[in-house]
Formats: sequence, structure tokens, C-alpha cells
Amino acid sequence: MALDAPSDPVLSIFSPWPDRLRHSAIILLAAAIALTGLVLLDELLPLRALAVFLCISAAALVPWRLHSAVAKREEEQRHANPVEAPAVSALVDGIPDPAVLLDRAGRVIHLNAAAAQLAPALRKGELAQFALRTPEIITALREAIATTEIRRATYHDHVPVDRWMELIITPVPVPTAFGGTDKCMLMTFHDLTPLRRVEEMRADFVANASHELRTPLAALSGFIDTLQGPAKDDPKARERFLGIMHTQATRMARLIDDLLSLSRVELSAHVRPDTLVDVVPIIRQVTDGLEPLARERQVVIETTVPETPVTVAGDREELLRVFENLIENALKYGASGGRVIVSLEQAVSAENAPEIRVKVRDFGPGIAPEHLPRLTERFYRVDVGDSRAQGGTGLGLSLVKHILNRHRGRLLIESVPRNGAAFTACFPQSRSARAS
Ligand code: ADP
Repeated sequence: MALDAPSDPVLSIFSPWPDRLRHSAIILLAAAIALTGLVLLDELLPLRALAVFLCISAAALVPWRLHSAVAKREEEQRHANPVEAPAVSALVDGIPDPAVLLDRAGRVIHLNAAAAQLAPALRKGELAQFALRTPEIITALREAIATTEIRRATYHDHVPVDRWMELIITPVPVPTAFGGTDKCMLMTFHDLTPLRRVEEMRADFVANASHELRTPLAALSGFIDTLQGPAKDDPKARERFLGIMHTQATRMARLIDDLLSLSRVELSAHVRPDTLVDVVPIIRQVTDGLEPLARERQVVIETTVPETPVTVAGDREELLRVFENLIENALKYGASGGRVIVSLEQAVSAENAPEIRVKVRDFGPGIAPEHLPRLTERFYRVDVGDSRAQGGTGLGLSLVKHILNRHRGRLLIESVPRNGAAFTACFPQSRSARAS
């Protein structure tokens, strides 16, 4: 139905004109016809007719000009959206997380630098749905627009690395220039990646720990069944099985000890030990304690440590665990070299800070370079079978790393395949220790 289309042929001439102008033109046309008629009938002098026409023109056109100026101003105000004000942009820019302000249709009004970096496809004036195409996000946006309630969705980015974000869409009522409110939406992204990684690590850890415990437990219960059944009256078999059961029970106990030690060190990770301890007698105590193992593996331990005390701020028990793990590993995995050198030296770190370095060097098979970065991960072993055969738990180096972190130290691992490995525990030398 074309309500505005005038059927009158005269009106149709003016139809493309604005309403007010059209009315003025019709009045002027009618006035011109009437005045021309009066002039032709000699009822009016042409000059007077012209003066009257001018007055009528002024009366018809001036209000139209005034009206169009007011209408233009109103139109400008209507388009001046308060959410596009610089203050609003500054607020969005100031949000530390990626943040995007959307209009009621989901079109981007403003986005901060973090959001532009996170989702480069987001563009001002374009629909956010086009840039964030996952169905979950599109549904959340649609629901937030429809219900004006907060909606959440998950945003998963694969490039350049896996990232998980929680996307929160908060409807924001914005006052308009005419006293009403317009609905906008503030979309913010919260990085859940670190939490997710911790969660994955925790799940992996529980799975690994359960697996490690289940293996000796299964062996124990298998031997118990055998001892109660077929080997009941076989003293020789009983002796042998009891020996294996003892080894498996020891392995379980060791695993539980390592797990407890790890969790203790983690709990106190933020508390740096402040007692000064002399590392020389600690190294001697460990090498003496491992002498039987060295003899059994036919390895000679050469110890090069100063006669004078060398002190660090540390926890004695934890330092014992560090040296025990490193030297025992050298004896177990590097036995074929026949030699292990334990040395202590005072050096300077890359940051020019004085430090104490305790190095354990063996001459065994060494470690292939691809394994080096992962050696301190929990339960990581180069050869699981070999580690188990040696009574290993896969937690030793992880424990060493945690203890060194707590001491604000670091672990250096160097290895040349077929030419042995060297593990160096570095401890910062405390000021008071240097003074003594
Ligand atoms: P484990 O209880 O298995 O010994 P660790 O965390 O102490 O666990 O060591 C992890 C792995 O690193 C070991 O299983 C072994 O494969 C490797 N490794 C550690 N020390 C040495 C070494 N001196 N020479 C060769 N391989 C080593």
C-alpha cells in the first residue's frame, strides 16, 4: 500500500520533494494561479500582485527552512550514540582482559588491543558472530541479546598455542540522548589456560601415580595367591616369592616416600630456607652412605670437595635428598663407566651472582638430547623398564628440581651420548655465607 504516492497529477510532480516543501510549493502554485487570474481580470495591478506573491512565498518558505534546520539537528542527535563517546572507548581500553563492546545486534562498537590481538577477525562495525564463529558463542550472544542476562561460553584458540578462554557477555543498559536506554553488551575474555594446564597435570599425575602403585600391588597380590595355592608347600618357591614381594613392597614404600616428599616441597615452595648449612659434610655423608651400592655396581666415587666449610642457606634434609638422588642415579644409570666424580666449586652465574655448584659426573651411556628437557617431569624416564629394574620411581629428578627451586637454585644437565652425563646443582651463595 503506497500511502505517500499522490494520485493527483499536480501532486505527483512534487512527490519526490520533502513534505513541507511540497506543501509550500502547492500553496505558491495556487497563489500564483489566483494572482495571475486577478491580474488578467484587471482586478489587481501586476506590481501589487508581485508584492502579494512575495509575501505569500516568504510565509510559505520560511517555516520550511526553520523546520528543516531543526529536523537536521534532531537527526544528528539521534545518530550521536553515547556509547561511542571517547570516555566509553577509554574504559574498554582500560580493561586488562580482552574486551569488546557490542550494540544490541551484536555489532562491534569498540574493542581493546588485547581483544584485537586475541581475535584479529573482530572488526569495528561488523557482527562479532562473524569473527567468533563457534556455535556456543553465537548461541550465548543471541541469548544475551534476547534475555538481557549474563551469558558465558568457552572460547578455544589453537593458534599459535592452545588457549582456553571463558567468554562472559554482560548486557549493559546505556542511557540515550533522549532519556531512554539502549542495550549494549560488554564481552570479556578470561584466560583459563593456566588453570586448565594445572588441571591436566593433576589428572596426569593421579593417573601416573595410581599406575605406578598398581603395578607392584598387582605383583604382591599375585604372589600371595600363589603362596596360598600352588606354592603352599614349596619352601624353595616360598623363599623366592617372598624375596620378590619384599622388593615390590620396598618399591611401593619408596614411591610413597617420593610422593610425600614432593608434596611437602611443593607446599613450602614459596618459603626460602634461611638456615646456613655447610654442604661439604652433607656430600660426604651421602657418598659414604652410597658406598655399598657403588661397590655392588663396581663404580669408584671420586670426591673433590674443599676441606673448609662451604655454606648455603638451605634445608639440610632436602640437600641430602638432592645429592642422594643425583649420585644414586649416576651409580645406577652410569655404572658402565666405572667412575663417578662428585665435585664442589664456587662460581659466578650468568647474572654475575656468586654461586655454589655441586656437580655429579658419570661416564656411562649418557642421555640422548631429545630427553634432556623432559627429565625433570614427574614420572618421565628415558627407559621405563630400566628405571623399574633399578628400583626407580621416575620422581627423583622432579624432586631435585623442586628442592632447588625452593632454594632459588637451578639444575644444569649436560650429556654426551656414550660419554656419560653431568648433573650440576647450583645454589646462590647468600651474603652472610660469603662473609663467613
Ligand atoms: P628414576 O627414579 O627413574 O631414576 P629420575 O627422575 O631420578 O627417576 O630420573 C629420570 C630418568 O632420567 C631415569 O629414569 C633415567 O632414564 C634418566 N637418568 C637420570 N640420571 C641419569 C644418568 N646419570 N645417566 C643416564 N640416565 C639418567
